[in-house]
Amino acid sequence: MANYYKLTIPSDRVERLQYMRRMFPQAPGSFLADEWRGGRHEALKRLNTIDIEAYNRNRSFLNGAVSKLSPYFRHGCLTLKEASDSVRYRFGKQAEEFVGELAWRDYWRRVWYQLGDGIFSDIEDPKVALGDKLIPDFIRQGITGLPCMDGFIRNLMQDGYVHNHARKWFAAYMVHWLKVDWREAADWFENYLLDGDKGSNHLSWQWVASLNSSRPYFFNKESLARHTGEKYCSTCKVNCPFDGSHEALIEKLFGNAAPEKAKAHRVMLPVRAPISTHRAVAIFVHDEMLSSAHPLLRKPMPKFFVFDEILYSKWPIKRLQFVADCLNELQDVEVWIGDTREVLQARGVGQVIAQDTPNRQVKLLLEPFNPIWQPEVKFTESEISEKRLQRFSRYWDKVGTELFGDNVSSQT
Ligand SMILES: Cc1cc2nc3c(=O)[nH]c(=O)nc-3n(C[C@H](O)[C@H](O)[C@H](O)COP(=O)(O)OP(=O)(O)OC[C@H]3O[C@@H](n4cnc5c(N)ncnc54)[C@H](O)[C@@H]3O)c2cc1C
Repeated sequence: MANYYKLTIPSDRVERLQYMRRMFPQAPGSFLADEWRGGRHEALKRLNTIDIEAYNRNRSFLNGAVSKLSPYFRHGCLTLKEASDSVRYRFGKQAEEFVGELAWRDYWRRVWYQLGDGIFSDIEDPKVALGDKLIPDFIRQGITGLPCMDGFIRNLMQDGYVHNHARKWFAAYMVHWLKVDWREAADWFENYLLDGDKGSNHLSWQWVASLNSSRPYFFNKESLARHTGEKYCSTCKVNCPFDGSHEALIEKLFGNAAPEKAKAHRVMLPVRAPISTHRAVAIFVHDEMLSSAHPLLRKPMPKFFVFDEILYSKWPIKRLQFVADCLNELQDVEVWIGDTREVLQARGVGQVIAQDTPNRQVKLLLEPFNPIWQPEVKFTESEISEKRLQRFSRYWDKVGTELFGDNVSSQT
């Protein structure tokens, strides 16, 4: 019996969420909240209601007016260029801070294209001593005893979304306070996110660890208390491990321990399969191109999306439901569950056309089908040299100037 089958995604949202639960009984976690309905329609709504003044004023605060667009960019519902064009047209120079954040995503993606699976190993020597501990159970259970960290773990597991500042604090706590191996922590963290993206995630963890930056990222209680509006600190009863001056924390966290050399980490990849002998050409819709406005989706060819366990076995149910919302907006895409290669073979496909991706898992899966990789829409036309790609500030000097002219502010 074939171990793949076609899905019929219900158009009714409530039914759709239930259907995905039935199709993926093993997927962990709770249902996707209403706030996170997937798809381009919702993405455009968010883009069109950004309050740019509030964003500029308070985006670093936990309750700040951030866009919560990351899951939509991650799944291709909206391109960075569309967002950048829209906010620059509407807000001019006021949009610089927001576009600077979009640029981080583009920057990490370019680094991912450049380094491939190299992003899973230390990019540079660490600037401080790092640890290689396993993730403690109290992290997995969200009972660290620290209300702030427990709150961030709850955000991660229940909502699938954590504010950028909280991601940085949490990553610093894991890597510098608990001395957990950054790669292990990054893999674990990514699995719970609605916007889980190997480029932005793993490279951000490396940045916190000081593996693609000139110093480690850490914080103190004062900064956390201020940016959270005392949300956690006001009721906290523990002896705060984050309390102290910058200098005192450097001494506490890194002391005299000498940093080691950069380490290589293991990467799991799918097994290679023989080249397909069929002739039909089809569009392969992967999880970075889920937009009804995608040019490939307008081509008069068969189109396939496959929930393949090589890619999705660790995804929580809410993320699968998010993807189902996105797929529901796409016309004429056959949605399957099973082994991509078996599905495409069974449908007589000999060649696929897909949007390019730096994700080598996807590339290897499609290798038997002579893939034609169509370039993705570029955020900017700038060619970025290898040297500029080593640090975001160098990249932004060029890209920011292209987008906003010579008096662009520096971003860190
Ligand atoms: C440890 C760690 C792990 C992360 N993992 C991911 C991840 O798996 N997927 C992911 O999309 N982002 C990741 N980020 C980046 C960032 O935290 C999220 O993109 C951001 O919090 C999304 O919220 P928002 O859409 O409200 O952001 P906004 O402030 O509204 O920003 C608009 C968009 O800019 C991009 N962006 C903003 N900040 C960053 C950043 N620092 N790096 C890259 N892109 C950025 C996002 O696409 C975001 O949607 C990670 C950051 C850290 C520190």
